[in-house]
Amino acid sequence: MNLKINNESFLYDAYGLVQAFYQGEKPKVFLNKELPEGEESVEIRVEHDKISMECNGEYSGDIAIDEADRSDTKNRLKRLIYEVLSKKVQISLPWGTLTGIRPTKIPLKKLMAGETEAEVQRYMKETYLCSDEKISLATNIAKRELSVMGEIGDKYALYIGIPFCPSICLYCSFSSYPMGLYQKKSDAYLDALMKEIAFAGEHFKHRTLDTIYIGGGTPSSLSASQLDRLLLAVEEHLDLSALREFTVEAGRPDSITEDKLRVLANHNIDRISVNPQTMHQKTLDLIGRFHTVEQIRESFSLARQISDEAKAQGKKGFFINMDLIVGLPGESKEDVAKTLAEVKKMKPDNLTVHSLAIKRSSRLNIQWENYENELFVNSKDIMEMVHEAAKEMGMSPYYMYRQKQISGNLENIGFAPEGKECLYNIEIMEELCDIVALGAGSACKKVGRNAEGSTDLKIKVERCENVKDVDLYIQRIDEMIERKRQLYL
Ligand code: SF4
Repeated sequence: MNLKINNESFLYDAYGLVQAFYQGEKPKVFLNKELPEGEESVEIRVEHDKISMECNGEYSGDIAIDEADRSDTKNRLKRLIYEVLSKKVQISLPWGTLTGIRPTKIPLKKLMAGETEAEVQRYMKETYLCSDEKISLATNIAKRELSVMGEIGDKYALYIGIPFCPSICLYCSFSSYPMGLYQKKSDAYLDALMKEIAFAGEHFKHRTLDTIYIGGGTPSSLSASQLDRLLLAVEEHLDLSALREFTVEAGRPDSITEDKLRVLANHNIDRISVNPQTMHQKTLDLIGRFHTVEQIRESFSLARQISDEAKAQGKKGFFINMDLIVGLPGESKEDVAKTLAEVKKMKPDNLTVHSLAIKRSSRLNIQWENYENELFVNSKDIMEMVHEAAKEMGMSPYYMYRQKQISGNLENIGFAPEGKECLYNIEIMEELCDIVALGAGSACKKVGRNAEGSTDLKIKVERCENVKDVDLYIQRIDEMIERKRQLYL
């Protein structure tokens, strides 16, 4: 499929929607360029007062441009594209014209502004043509988020990034480096991180630290003594007296050891993740995760055992989340069913299910010709099966987000029983409070909003990022700190 357009400001919205109809393809863009003859194409022409659309050379319709309301113009253009392509391709998209990454923000903002559930549902249906099922998923999640988050007040969340992993997964688009090659730099990295932690402790001493999330990368790529050093620094510099949650996303089973788990339990970490992604060895090998299915089971049961021992000693112990990915290369619906059955046997406390997204910077995208003949399957049926499995484990959806190029045009979704939700996941997705992010490649968010209950609730998010490269981060740590000081004046 080709997309021809003569105005870049509508390209992003048009492209996202055209691509959603042509799963597994990457539409070619012709920005102010002629289309090749005889190929399938969508052409969008922006004129001074209207936008017209043609599909395969035939006139499809037009919409008027409202200069005073650009967002309404874009919504109407997307509805026109949707109408034409849904007839042509003979499919409907569960999220309608919504191509943004945080669909729950729409009901959340509206509910916070005092609108009723029925008003929210009508708006999502008329404006974005979402299916009833997705509208109720997004609305129910938004209601749950509001009830677990409580008053935001002066709260902030702290993120600490450890950008090392045992190996780099095929689909990875994060700033992560193989620990084998970066081992020698990891202590210097921690030294720089300590400076940022000390800064955060001092700069935010009058604010309430609500949650901490140590992610990455794979934090458990660090040795047990490095983890201990990091957690001691957090305890020394930050006021943890009002902390509601402390997560270390251990992550990869091939990085989890008994001594590291004991360090986490001794520091009263209350959430970790043991992430299988799949319970099929052939897929693990294909996606570059050099561990076995058996190692997943062993790491999980070791984590459970150490958590139980910690609880018996009066410590917190941890909730254990598991991450899965559906739509992995070569995996059928039956493969996903088998993974879910295996996960159920382990009884995790939370389950997070991602729909594979093929990101530009990932090896999967860069070396696409090596994988394009693999099966890439994700569908409504598979997601229903996922919801059913989570329900059987006593869990329901509590946060959600979407990504560009997400398989099946579906979503990533976190499941938890009532009261076991990961608050940080909600905070980062919904941008409800400031996120102070430390470490290479991390991004701070400063969230400003007008009064809660306002009928025109506005949330403004300002950002500042740390450099991704580990060497540059270490060299330029003072500059990284200064960026934060300027953002949070
Ligand atoms: S574990 Fe996560 S961060 Fe590390 S390489 Fe794999 S996808 Fe990337």
